Amino acid sequence: MIASLTDKNLLVIGLGLIGGSLAKACRQKKIFASISGFSRKAETMADALSLGLVDEVSGDIEALVSKADVIFLAVPILSTSAVIAQIQPYLRNDTIVTDGGSVKGSVVKAGLELLTDDQLKMFVPGHPIAGSERSGVTAADEHLYVDHRIILTPIAETEPEAVQVVSQMWKSVGAEVDVMAWDYHDEVLAATSHLPHMLAFNLVDTLSKQSENREIFNYAAGGFRDFTRIAASDPTMWHDIFIANHRAILKVLDNYLDELHKLRNAVAVSDGEYMKFVFQEAKEAREHFSEILENRARRLHRSATHE
Ligand code: NAD
Repeated sequence: MIASLTDKNLLVIGLGLIGGSLAKACRQKKIFASISGFSRKAETMADALSLGLVDEVSGDIEALVSKADVIFLAVPILSTSAVIAQIQPYLRNDTIVTDGGSVKGSVVKAGLELLTDDQLKMFVPGHPIAGSERSGVTAADEHLYVDHRIILTPIAETEPEAVQVVSQMWKSVGAEVDVMAWDYHDEVLAATSHLPHMLAFNLVDTLSKQSENREIFNYAAGGFRDFTRIAASDPTMWHDIFIANHRAILKVLDNYLDELHKLRNAVAVSDGEYMKFVFQEAKEAREHFSEILENRARRLHRSATHE
């Protein structure tokens, strides 16, 4: 069954990069009958309206929530619980609540604590694996989700129909949808996104603090430039992520530190064999990864040309 969204109202709460981009893409493609927006600051709402991201904005959250069929929460991860508490009294039992937060455990916990049994049936936590170093309403980009993955992490209480509606929304803006358990999501993202960001923030900060090394930034090319790009990500957002997902991050970080120590010791004693073994294994992993990405690109191209 393909869910029909064209007679529904979408409410986006948090009109920054993630929420603004979804609103803009849905509005341009006329996926919903109407799109409403709510954000913390009146100025952001006015910008969202003048940039054409939404059809209407209002400071009256009760009125917006009562008429919404699908609500997308795109606020900082540590604010999600307060926003769920704020909207909960006005939610209809058939209104779907989904979100775009980068950590799912804290969102699931907030939902289980704050929503009624009926509201939980319509609760579809999610996370778009798409983003940018830019943030705020002016960073909204209608193409942000095209050919990107969206991970949905429904809980035991979630009705399959609600997952289907949210999947349909994401597919309509060009994304691919995966479904997995929230705790698996948090472990996978700790390893593939949160740890690399921690390393980038730490490396760039460490090197920039050594004043004699400041000039190395003039020679930032290749690897180091990529680290500096990642380290330019929003510090507040990453603060929230490291607090919300600390357990999974510490697990993968400790494992990483053990392996880094082994490599450090190999460098200290010039154990070339060990170093080559590690570098070779990493190279093979990367080649395998590139193959997966190429296959995926081919698959997406094939399905796009057959639509
Ligand atoms: P952003 O700063 O660009 O936008 C957040 C918006 O939420 C702002 O407009 C802000 O004013 C508003 N807001 C903050 N508190 C609010 C509240 N209590 N009520 C209503 N509005 C409120 O941030 P973003 O990059 O769009 O991130 C939003 C969410 O998406 C975060 O949970 C983040 O973890 C997740 N995410 C971000 C990225 C990324 O690369 N930026 C990628 C995937 C997921």
